[in-house]
Amino acid sequence: MADVSLRNLTKAWGGFTAVRDQSLEIRDGEFMVLLGPSGCGKTTTMRMIAGLEEPTAGDILIGGQRVNDLPPRDRDIAMVFQSYGLYPHMTVEDNIGYPLKLRGIKGAERAAQVRAAAAKVELEPLLHRRPKELSGGQRQRVALARAIVRRPTVFLMDEPLSNLDAKLRVSTRAEIKHLQHELGVTTVYVTHDQIEAMTLAHRVAVMQGGEIRQLDTPEVIYDRPADLFVAGFIGSPPMNLVDGDHADGRFTAAGGFHATTGVARHGGRAVLGVRPEDVTVGPAGSGDLDASIYAVELTGDAVLVTVQAGAARIIAKADRAWRAEIGSTVALRLDASRLHLFDAASTKRLQ
Ligand code: ATP
Repeated sequence: MADVSLRNLTKAWGGFTAVRDQSLEIRDGEFMVLLGPSGCGKTTTMRMIAGLEEPTAGDILIGGQRVNDLPPRDRDIAMVFQSYGLYPHMTVEDNIGYPLKLRGIKGAERAAQVRAAAAKVELEPLLHRRPKELSGGQRQRVALARAIVRRPTVFLMDEPLSNLDAKLRVSTRAEIKHLQHELGVTTVYVTHDQIEAMTLAHRVAVMQGGEIRQLDTPEVIYDRPADLFVAGFIGSPPMNLVDGDHADGRFTAAGGFHATTGVARHGGRAVLGVRPEDVTVGPAGSGDLDASIYAVELTGDAVLVTVQAGAARIIAKADRAWRAEIGSTVALRLDASRLHLFDAASTKRLQ
């Protein structure tokens, strides 16, 4: 068993608290992503799990055992960082085999384990090269293979894809996902990239200001963001958020923007959210609201239509063949079953 428990974990430096009273249960075999903007405390959380940073308060348990007082090497974890951390003078084979060498595994036994790990990340033909003779993606795969040979109970990965170009990032991401599925090793993965979080995670912990704002599956985080921060952070282009007033199940904003929410129990200042793919643009007069076209952008697989609806500027995601003149009038329809409503003061989700 290699579940990881964080119990009321806090890390402060002087008067500054980077991680505040954080509790998180990571299940055996789970792929947990810590997601948040720069400075939210995700790396600090990871470093505490690794034993590279001492908690100010709280406990860390791995496989049910409290590890606060164990040095990193005794925690049975393997780490993969964005800066691959390879030894430049060693071959790929020796880099991958290094953890085995430290354990006193020699000769044919070590070579066999290195080859097996290299095969998992398709590095076998490159075993005799040195890191400087490899591409960034290949170096990251060496770092992964070196983590694999250790057969750890937990993988810790801190932005492992961020040094790769866009294309390599996508293919390496799929490799990491496949590998984690195959090995079934509990994994904690830190990123500020919401697409990585959505694609890789069994569950995502969205962090801000040293706290977890929402912990759930990617589907729930996307479909039912718990507050305005999560709503604005997940999704590209981001969710449209409109400030206004809410009463008797009806939302209104400046300039005539309105929507029916069906939420009876709330009245007062509110923020209405709707994702671009849940907004339809059609001929003027055919929808809930008239709006004027501000911009039309072809992204390749879709068209992003920005419209001005009253005081609100809204982005709709339309079919790739969709076209209209800037300044022309269109009608907007908001998918009523996919509206999000947040209380303006607390920022919490109401619907
Ligand atoms: P990034 O994506 O930029 O790495 P992060 O979410 O991983 O961000 P952390 O590295 O965990 O953020 O840092 C959280 C906060 O703690 C930041 O405001 C950072 O400046 C601060 N911090 C980190 N290490 C120290 C330190 N040794 N002393 C003081 N403050 C620190």
